[in-house]
Amino acid sequence: MNGFRRVRPPQAPGASTHRRLLVTGALSASLLLLVPASAAAGGPGRSPGDGAAPGAPGIGDPYYPASGNGGYDVSHYDLRLRYRPATDLLEGTATIIATALEDLTRFNLDFGLTVSEVRVNGREAAFTRSGDHELEVTPVTPLRKNRTVPVVVRYAGKPSELKIGGWTAWHRTPDGGVAAQEPASAVWWFPSNDHPLDKATFDISVAVPDGTQAISNGVLRSRSSRLGWTRWNWRSDRPQATYLATLAVGRFDITTDTTANGLPVLNAYSRDLGDNAGAARASVERTAEVVEWLEGVFGPYPFNALGGYVPNVPSGYALETQTRPFYSPRQFAAGANVSVVVHEMAHQWYGDSVSVKGWRDIWINEGFARYSQWLWSEKEGEGTAQELADHVYALRPADDPFWTVKPGDPGPDRQFDLAVYDRGALALQVLRNKIGDEDFFTVLRGWPAEYADGNASVGDFVAYAERISGRQLAALFDTWLYQPSKPALSPGAAAGAAPALRGARSWARPAEPRSYRRIAATDTVHDHGRDHARGRGHGRTQDRAPGLAPGLLSQGRAQGRAQGRAQGRDNGRHRDQVQNLSQDLSPDR
Ligand SMILES: [Zn+2]
Repeated sequence: MNGFRRVRPPQAPGASTHRRLLVTGALSASLLLLVPASAAAGGPGRSPGDGAAPGAPGIGDPYYPASGNGGYDVSHYDLRLRYRPATDLLEGTATIIATALEDLTRFNLDFGLTVSEVRVNGREAAFTRSGDHELEVTPVTPLRKNRTVPVVVRYAGKPSELKIGGWTAWHRTPDGGVAAQEPASAVWWFPSNDHPLDKATFDISVAVPDGTQAISNGVLRSRSSRLGWTRWNWRSDRPQATYLATLAVGRFDITTDTTANGLPVLNAYSRDLGDNAGAARASVERTAEVVEWLEGVFGPYPFNALGGYVPNVPSGYALETQTRPFYSPRQFAAGANVSVVVHEMAHQWYGDSVSVKGWRDIWINEGFARYSQWLWSEKEGEGTAQELADHVYALRPADDPFWTVKPGDPGPDRQFDLAVYDRGALALQVLRNKIGDEDFFTVLRGWPAEYADGNASVGDFVAYAERISGRQLAALFDTWLYQPSKPALSPGAAAGAAPALRGARSWARPAEPRSYRRIAATDTVHDHGRDHARGRGHGRTQDRAPGLAPGLLSQGRAQGRAQGRAQGRDNGRHRDQVQNLSQDLSPDR
């Protein structure tokens, strides 16, 4: 993710709107549950208390205790959806292939829309609601450990009206809607085991009115039109975390291409991007080039499709939705921004293929995605990673709250704090200086292969770097990731580099690298109070990138407006070009 806004998790305490909205559905469902759960669990030939028990309502993440669920593992989601942009009505049938990890009398899914029916292994199951987004499912007979069953959930609702903690993750746009949020967005559009620990493959099929496009992850396998509806069929064939599944419905211009390695590229741009249209295309159309460069740093691209999309949302951030990142138009308000593309595509290795074990491991995602922006700057001759590290280190005095954030365990309120990114990248520069370029880049390249399609923690990374380098690194990571204070030695000095780099001891700051402001601009496109999270603490000082001078923020925005106006002249031409390409899009690629 890029562009710092904080998302309160769906299980935020005190959220009651959601429960009130769902009271009708819950009432009818609860009538099915007049029989106590223990009795309902006792199927033919089994007595209650034979060892089967309800699955836990959370997967065990201390940052978000209600996220995900216990007792089962999902291997595949099949989502068959229909969406009406005019009314924001989403209707769906989700078929979830789940394997019980223990004997279960019932289990939970995370979901917020109104459910009309649940079937487990073909048989109608009882269901009810609890908490902010829990759907409790009680099959007719307990699920035995290791049994794999289909769970079918039929549902409908308007995602923009589903408020959890007073907030919806769904972006309603003038021509459709978009699901792209972190750490949670699935609750607004499909039932799931909503935590990165339970990754699965996805088939996402979406019917939208003819003339409207439905964008999602992976490969567009087919597209067909019938009776005024066009159905778009997408497939993600590698394990994908639920928050990395995305859906964007609207009027998009689509461009397609093939990489040098033969992978399909598909990008989509809202036809309603205004002044940002040209800069968006000038950035996202470079995705294949960026991935080719990243392969040189991180090893082979982990997925079989790539691209990006820019919907007409008023938000400011970008998100690494798998294979096809989401970019807010405001990321391009200051002109072309390839750096944000580098950030989101770096996440395909660091965050998507290798996912966090728990949300406290967010540095595994953001420290590396930010560092990849520094490496891109180094490659472009706009400032080396060392120069950027020295600049960031010197920019922030010891009493800056920036240094109180621990990137290795920032806490849920600071999960997307700028320090996780910038101090997180500083830690990597210190590591690079300590173990040398050869071992450092061996680590960067080896890690995504070691944990491909899986999950890993900060501790796993420290152990891996120690194994590759043969060095003791615990103290280094403790200083840079876990101490709530500014390290005494600058990144250069910590490695015994030239005295000129010792920012802490020098009265003169190192010169600002040319790329610094462009990279920082990807941070300063804030959402505060504008399009979501209204009244939920956004706009508080600590939600802003800590330590960034307000002057810098407003300067960046003014620049963005001026450059956006300057680029507006080219919009028409770009639009025509892309529309022509869009017409060439074969339905069955
Ligand atoms: Zn990121």
